[in-house]
Amino acid sequence: MAENCRTADYADSDISPVAGCDGCELWASTEDRIMAAVSAMENHGWDTRAATEVARRVLGSQTPSLIHQGSEVLAGEMVWTLCCEHNPEAINDIAQALQKGSRCQAGSMAVSWGPNPFDPNHVPSRGWHSRFESPTLHAGALWTAARWGALNKFHPDKPWLTRHPRIVLISQTGEALSDSVPFEFLRDSIITPVSSASGRRHVYLWNTRRCARMADFSDWLIEQGWSWPPNLIPLGSVSRMAGIEQLAHLRRIPATFRGILAQPMLEPLEMDLTGFGWVIVGGETGADARPFDLQWARVMRQQCLTARCPFFANRVGWNLQDDGIPITGIRTRDRHFEAWPEELRVRDLPMVLGSPIRWPVAPRLARV
Ligand code: SF4
Repeated sequence: MAENCRTADYADSDISPVAGCDGCELWASTEDRIMAAVSAMENHGWDTRAATEVARRVLGSQTPSLIHQGSEVLAGEMVWTLCCEHNPEAINDIAQALQKGSRCQAGSMAVSWGPNPFDPNHVPSRGWHSRFESPTLHAGALWTAARWGALNKFHPDKPWLTRHPRIVLISQTGEALSDSVPFEFLRDSIITPVSSASGRRHVYLWNTRRCARMADFSDWLIEQGWSWPPNLIPLGSVSRMAGIEQLAHLRRIPATFRGILAQPMLEPLEMDLTGFGWVIVGGETGADARPFDLQWARVMRQQCLTARCPFFANRVGWNLQDDGIPITGIRTRDRHFEAWPEELRVRDLPMVLGSPIRWPVAPRLARV
């Protein structure tokens, strides 16, 4: 629950009424991690059947978070069971395979900052727990956000947001539309504060990969006699073409407009932008980030121009390519706006968020 949003250039602040999530393809399940461990053990010459048996015995009862946190200890246990030897190379490879399925930023924050039963010296940060797979509800979070001051002024860190209402991103530390979160909670902890007198001063981007459940919630809300707040913008996340269809569910929501967060973008995306009023693109972050190709962003930018849909170049991520050719040497601080080539340095904001601003292009691409 942070007042300043450090992880997205399209928002001022972020807030999480729900911490944790019941998972998606960016947070590999226990079964997927077992298979990854088996594959790593096979690469070291162990028999598939024996490796599978050991992996199931050691990992089967652990959550994905615990497997990530204890990857080295658990890998060591599996190697010892298989060969009664200490084999650091195999342990390292298996541990890396176990961690590879952790591409969700919220999940990664939870395992880094929450309690770690495998590391007695680890001091957890306040407010974090490691049960990422069991979402925790924070009923007062959006009420806190509603009390934050309005902005509508010069924004030194994110000048493209200047003169807009405060843009609050829901939710950075989990998926509020996880199956275990009741609609009554979402109504009382999101819709009510967002619609309150103080909450109406801000605009909220409700980010989800569960577009169908958000639309079901909207239907339920309307059946109950509520309306969808005009300052609450559904923001559907998508990375691959396989996820495009689910975005269509957002059209059922009677929102002012809907947005698309194509980040991490993992392949070119072609989509029908009817009913959508904002597209945000960006690449993946993290040491083993998958490639993000500027060519994909150009294609998306062209689709936005054709559909007259605002386009926002967020962050290029940590594995940038241009037409298949890797771009290296971008300094960390340039992984933001300056890292985009000039024709993609576009940070359009939708009309409803204030006056339409085309953020002027900044300095030339800076490389070391
Ligand atoms: S929080 Fe979002 S990205 Fe992370 S596992 Fe859940 S749905 Fe996936």
